[in-house]
Amino acid sequence: MFMNGCEKLGIRSAVAPLAILSAPFEGRPPCINRGFCNQGCMPDAKFSTLIVHIPKAIKAGAEVLADCMVTQVLMGKDGVAKGVAFVHEGTTYEQKAKIVILSAFVVETPRLLLNSANAQYPDGLANSSGWVGKSIMVHSSQDVYARFEDEIRMYKGTPVLATTQDFYRTNPKNNFTRGYTLHSHGSRPVEFSKAISQMEGGPVWGERLRETLLNYNYYGRITLVGEVLPSPMNRVTLVDEKDEYGLPRAKVTFSYGDNDQKLIEHAVCNMSTILEAAGGKVEYVVPDTAHMMGGCRMGNDPKSSVVNSFGQTHDIPNLFICDASIFVTSGAGNPTNTVMSLALRTAEYIKEKAKQFELLRARSV
Ligand code: SF4
Repeated sequence: MFMNGCEKLGIRSAVAPLAILSAPFEGRPPCINRGFCNQGCMPDAKFSTLIVHIPKAIKAGAEVLADCMVTQVLMGKDGVAKGVAFVHEGTTYEQKAKIVILSAFVVETPRLLLNSANAQYPDGLANSSGWVGKSIMVHSSQDVYARFEDEIRMYKGTPVLATTQDFYRTNPKNNFTRGYTLHSHGSRPVEFSKAISQMEGGPVWGERLRETLLNYNYYGRITLVGEVLPSPMNRVTLVDEKDEYGLPRAKVTFSYGDNDQKLIEHAVCNMSTILEAAGGKVEYVVPDTAHMMGGCRMGNDPKSSVVNSFGQTHDIPNLFICDASIFVTSGAGNPTNTVMSLALRTAEYIKEKAKQFELLRARSV
């Protein structure tokens, strides 16, 4: 449906690249196309860190401490991280470390750095620039649903099957900068009904909801992955309210800027045009967001960034960040592959510098 619509309009599209097996690999079976990827892939055909990397790490000697909440990164007096404090079943423990790598994502990584403030680092760790928590981003992710004469059956196959990046780059003819990706995107019945019954300004309810869901098989959807520009006003900060560990909770502040709004408007128009070219009648436009990024941005200048290009914090040589919080811009593509590439880069860097970290640790102890 999506590719037909694109073709009629001269828009280039392609089968979406997915981290899902099409043939047996490393003991995992191929995808059976039943389409429950968002609920968890029971055959393990779909990639996840949990089923791919963690078992390999355990085999290589790693120990996983589950159900633990890290409450603080512990610092030595010499400006080197010496480990973390964590709580397990009500008891606080200390884990010593040569290198501390935070991978707690866009909200919890900045929160942990801010909550680890001490006399030497009163504004939080790795925060001499003042950028910890700033410039968090999402992807604008509006969904446009159209009804067709023929059956679409959105539940079949993996949710994202086809994609176009013809609108990815800045086009000087547009009234906004940067661009977006569009995906054909299957939606399961519960997700579909939740989305349209909670739409701001016009929730679909009662008879209309029932009629829509009875005709679920005739709906198709296109989803936006829109680049959102970074703004320091969008940020993670701490509030006085405490969680069950006595740690200040995070407050997330975010709103779209003018460029983001114009991009969304342009994208929704194109999504509707593609659906109509494919023979559909647009019925629902559902606002949504996806993929949080930023909050500990990467950069060469320690005055305006938190980590260098290896994920190493500028302020503390043996403290690394390895997650989407180090993104500087959001791009307009799903971010997981970039997170994985950066993780590989960080891992290779740490391996290369292993000796130096041994020396740091010796000094610190
Ligand atoms: S359709 Fe999704 S959930 Fe089903 S086997 Fe394929 S990847 Fe797994």
